[in-house]
Amino acid sequence: ATQFVIDGLKAAIENKEILKGINLEIKGGEVHAIMGPNGTGKSTLASALMGHPKYEVTSGAVTLDGEDVLDMATDERARAGLFLAMQYPSEIAGVTNSDFLRSAINARREEGKEISLIKFIRQMESKMKELEMNPEFAHRYLNEGFSGGEKKRNEILQMLLLEPKIVVLDEIDSGLDIDALKIVAAGVNAMRSEDRGFLIITHYQRLLGYIKPDFVHVMMQGRIVKSGGPELAERLESEGYDWVKEELGIVD
Ligand code: ADP
Ligand code: MG
Ligand code: MG
Repeated sequence: ATQFVIDGLKAAIENKEILKGINLEIKGGEVHAIMGPNGTGKSTLASALMGHPKYEVTSGAVTLDGEDVLDMATDERARAGLFLAMQYPSEIAGVTNSDFLRSAINARREEGKEISLIKFIRQMESKMKELEMNPEFAHRYLNEGFSGGEKKRNEILQMLLLEPKIVVLDEIDSGLDIDALKIVAAGVNAMRSEDRGFLIITHYQRLLGYIKPDFVHVMMQGRIVKSGGPELAERLESEGYDWVKEELGIVD
């Protein structure tokens, strides 16, 4: 079964330490949520997992099914089955969405086993329909001029087509109205399976009403300071984060 392990991960931006030792283990079939106030390092964790050059991993280890993720280039991480939807997806001019998707799918396949154009188009069209996306988005340049909500839906389209082992979604709910949120959540729920694990990063509990997590972790000042079940997210929603700080003696 899939196993994703983050062990003592520390990361810095411009010599400033942001992640101060993250420990997290995600198995196939599990959905973990990370919640936390703004500026606590949630997106930094996603960027470090992606291998973003601006974020320097200073210590710790990350493995996917025993393989050293930190040793891989960003595209190798994707090939290994790690999928990251970033809070602010990048725009790529000159590359259409469908070209991008087809090469991403083929990058995960062995040479000579590339997906046929017909099959790819059929799959893409059916997934776009599920996500209630306008078919014209297939031919638009990747994320260029997409609204916030369209970018998020497009990230979920990528996830559906790539069938990754580990999915990390950073604030996939931001900028979505309630109908779009339900569509995105349904897309995620349809992908839940015994051999796939999820890490859902969110500021708000709202999303977790639609994607039920097995575990909820609270991140503060670059550390996971508390873990529990879905009831933890509900308490954070109704009471905010102050009680966690008080309980743990965190001063900010
Ligand atoms: P969150 O996602 O929890 O809101 P972030 O990971 O985005 O938090 O940010 C954590 C800290 O790192 C913040 O203090 C933020 O200002 C800083 N930070 C994040 N990205 C950069 C960057 N590219 N350059 C400089 N500082 C950054
Ligand atoms: Mg933020
Ligand atoms: Mg963030």
